[in-house]
Amino acid sequence: MSIKENLEKVKQNIANTALKVGKKPEDIILVMATKTVDVDRIREAIQAGGNIIGENKIQEALKKYQELKDEKAEWHFIGHLQTNKAKDALKFANMIHSVDRLPLVEKLDQRLLQEGRSLDILLQVNTSHEESKYGVEPEKAISFAKQVAKYDTLNIRGLMTIGLFTKDEVKIRKCFKVLKELHDQILKESIDRVQMNYLSMGMTNDYQIAIEEGANMVRIGTAIFGARNTPDAYYWPSEKTDR
Ligand SMILES: *Cc1c(COP(=O)(O)O)cnc(C)c1O
Repeated sequence: MSIKENLEKVKQNIANTALKVGKKPEDIILVMATKTVDVDRIREAIQAGGNIIGENKIQEALKKYQELKDEKAEWHFIGHLQTNKAKDALKFANMIHSVDRLPLVEKLDQRLLQEGRSLDILLQVNTSHEESKYGVEPEKAISFAKQVAKYDTLNIRGLMTIGLFTKDEVKIRKCFKVLKELHDQILKESIDRVQMNYLSMGMTNDYQIAIEEGANMVRIGTAIFGARNTPDAYYWPSEKTDR
């Protein structure tokens, strides 16, 4: 199947699931996870109607951005962001999904102050309690949101998580429920400057479950571009190197 056909199929599935849970298809935002995908195929996807690119690695993203920046697309950074790469992320990202610790927040803030602007971010929560994944622990998410809210340069727009990698649907669903619950709690706290517009959760294998549990932003790669050759371990390093 072509990228166009894949994209149409994914959009159809998103629409069907949205309607099932009483939402409008257009309420669900599709971020195309484009790690390892070359620029020609990304361009094909944009021309087929994909309008948000989600990249995982700064070097890879910068290179692609140079070639694709004139295309009509938004750029999201969805991978783990090393503190020393914060400045580079700001060269292309319209939104960062993976803000999960204060040193990173401080670095982004410093740079944004210099540039005299603000940035939309999501807070990444580790809902699966897996060591291999980044994100703030669910128990600490609310206090983290309060801390980050003090930085005027960062606009918290919602939360992001990666569901547990398992075939056990109950366990996957539980991760998404945790994120939705935190979303609701944070809303209830009505923290100054904190908005909860987006729940970024769901990938190729679990986006329908995620939408059922409240996702309105899904990040999909394989279902659009096919299987990747590079193992995902390269993109989700198991060592939490820069903490
Ligand atoms: C790769 C990736 C995705 C998409 O994964 P697929 O299973 O290929 O759809 C989503 N989110 C993040 C953070 C990713 O790294």
